[in-house]
Amino acid sequence: MQIKKLSPLLANQIAAGEVVERPSSVVKELLENAIDAGAKRIQVDIERGGARLIRITDDGHGIEREQLELALARHATSKITQTEDLKAIHTLGFRGEALASISSVAKLTLSSKAQSASDDSAGWSAIAQGQDMAVEIQPCPMPIGTIVEVRDLFFNTPARRKFLRAERTEYVHIEETMKRVALASPTVAFTLKHNGKVTKRIPAAQSDEQQKQRIGAIVSNNFLRHALHLDTAIDRLRLWGWLSSPEHHQNSNLSQYVFVNGRAVRDRTLNHAIKQAYQELLPVGRVPAYVLYLELDPEKVDVNVHPTKHEVRFSDARQVHDFISRAVAEALEPQTETLLADDLL
Ligand code: ADP
Ligand code: MG
Repeated sequence: MQIKKLSPLLANQIAAGEVVERPSSVVKELLENAIDAGAKRIQVDIERGGARLIRITDDGHGIEREQLELALARHATSKITQTEDLKAIHTLGFRGEALASISSVAKLTLSSKAQSASDDSAGWSAIAQGQDMAVEIQPCPMPIGTIVEVRDLFFNTPARRKFLRAERTEYVHIEETMKRVALASPTVAFTLKHNGKVTKRIPAAQSDEQQKQRIGAIVSNNFLRHALHLDTAIDRLRLWGWLSSPEHHQNSNLSQYVFVNGRAVRDRTLNHAIKQAYQELLPVGRVPAYVLYLELDPEKVDVNVHPTKHEVRFSDARQVHDFISRAVAEALEPQTETLLADDLL
């Protein structure tokens, strides 16, 4: 038996297995990068459900020429520098692996013009063909911002490619991903194009009222019409957002969105807390809809749990659970009374 070190390409492809499950995972990582770069307008162009092309254009601060190649390298990030930083993460990304992973399973071009670049300097592209992690740099005149183009996803990993579903299915996953990211970043405008046609346009919200309308447009106006508003804070924990009143239940977990410090998460503690608050109020098998934002001290939540960063760990899970459960129950309370009153009649 002989132990050999994996080639960088293979090592990255293995790591990509955890982060890049399907086209929508690429979209999620690239959208997060655009948001971390302070983008205000983000355009997503997709062809064939993302299998042929995913192109994300942003107007963020861009990347300087000398940094382009590093951006594609594994374990290279501008977002953290020391162990201490892991204690309180303020950005969506921090692991420095998305671009390296994606470029190992697709043909990736990262083009950028940095805000800090002098006016007359052009932008630059770093081209990685998914071969041996080699990168080629070329000039690419463009406005300030970044364009990431990902072509032929999984072209060199047939085992993965086999798991790509119908174009429509992959598209629906991408749309759902965009909705989550858009709900988390109300002041950013998003456009989604599929096969050359605009399929979704989500404008930026400048006021509370516009944000409310935006949530209606993203989730559904019907949800918003019957939703209860909530905003509660105790002990540096704040929960706010909208949730369906007990009479407006649904049968699927769609339209259940929870954000922790601006990050869309799927968390059992949070889901359980919300479920508990609704417990007695919904018919068996029916579930609520909600868009809820939890804000807490970043030191009290660990986002470094899984490469996809969908999961979080709370340092005091009990406290968070009880706070949420109580806040939701209180928001539903007037409803509880009327429901009980109806029963009495
Ligand atoms: P991470 O986001 O965890 O840092 P990535 O592999 O996603 O790792 O990105 C690597 C680096 O490339 C980022 O830290 C950032 O400096 C830079 N970068 C990636 N995408 C963009 C973008 N759209 N705009 C500006 N910089 C970007
Ligand atoms: Mg990233």
